[in-house]
Amino acid sequence: MDEPVEEIDVAIVGGGPTGLAAGLYAARASRRTVLWERGVLGGQIAITALVDNYPGFADGVQGPDLAIDMHRQAEKFGMETVYGGVEGLRRDPPHYVLTTADGEVRAKTVIVTSGADPVKLGVPGEEALTGREVECAVLGNAEPQASPLGEIRAPDGFYSYAAKYENDSAELVVPAAISEAAAERVQRCAIDAFRALDCAGLARVDFFVDEEAGGEPAIHVLELNTLPGFTPISMYPRLWQEAGLSYPELITRLLERALGRSRGTRARTGAAHA
Ligand SMILES: Cc1cc2nc3c(=O)[nH]c(=O)nc-3n(C[C@H](O)[C@H](O)[C@H](O)COP(=O)(O)OP(=O)(O)OC[C@H]3O[C@@H](n4cnc5c(N)ncnc54)[C@H](O)[C@@H]3O)c2cc1C
Repeated sequence: MDEPVEEIDVAIVGGGPTGLAAGLYAARASRRTVLWERGVLGGQIAITALVDNYPGFADGVQGPDLAIDMHRQAEKFGMETVYGGVEGLRRDPPHYVLTTADGEVRAKTVIVTSGADPVKLGVPGEEALTGREVECAVLGNAEPQASPLGEIRAPDGFYSYAAKYENDSAELVVPAAISEAAAERVQRCAIDAFRALDCAGLARVDFFVDEEAGGEPAIHVLELNTLPGFTPISMYPRLWQEAGLSYPELITRLLERALGRSRGTRARTGAAHA
């Protein structure tokens, strides 16, 4: 929102499926409706791979896609979204007063749809093994650049050997549907990892990103691949395509950087070449 909200008709606390459904109906009934979400829009459904029991989707639907569409539909009817948490709520008849990071907001009606947090098992390493897998392509030598992020979605929720190597059933989603703040942090981490390992030219860095708990997203580097798949449909060129770099342009840039590096090495070592 551009300006701080002072008085609204309907305040919704939480942007999971329940809050988004409430927002859709309230906004469609011409009530000024504002929804607060402190984590990721879509709540638990945004961290679900395949949802196959949602009426109307006979072949199932990916949770993040459903979340994006629910949000788009509610905003189409005028619902406003604030990316932040509601810290407090009190009654001040005839209003309710919400405490937010931007100050206090008065609302005629409040709908609390704060949902639930899935219970973790508490086993060692669990924190580093949950989250959405996103991938970032890095290009360059001394001043590497990070691409937009992508996400692999497997048809049955599990990225199996068959989905990776034997058929085309896995979907590459570019850009990945994570928050802008998380995406920026992942891109910075990708460059840090690239530099820490003294990489050159290209690498694809894979991460788990967990925005489920709200607050700062948990980001874990899974792997840095120094020779990523490079067919025209592979993730690495797909990510650069999203940044406006075509497959031929990407190859040209890589060759330029390889030649530049080779010249630099020769200059440092004084090596001659035939
Ligand atoms: C792994 C997984 C798989 C699932 N698969 C399916 C499935 O296939 N089919 C199915 O029907 N259901 C499934 N579910 C369950 C389904 O996701 C939930 O029932 C549904 O998301 C509940 O919606 P909700 O809006 O009530 O709450 P939530 O989805 O929990 O959303 C609540 C939202 O409120 C936000 N919030 C909380 N407090 C505040 C605050 N103070 N200020 C601002 N925001 C706040 C949270 O960040 C969260 O985004 C699955 C759940 C999980 C975890």
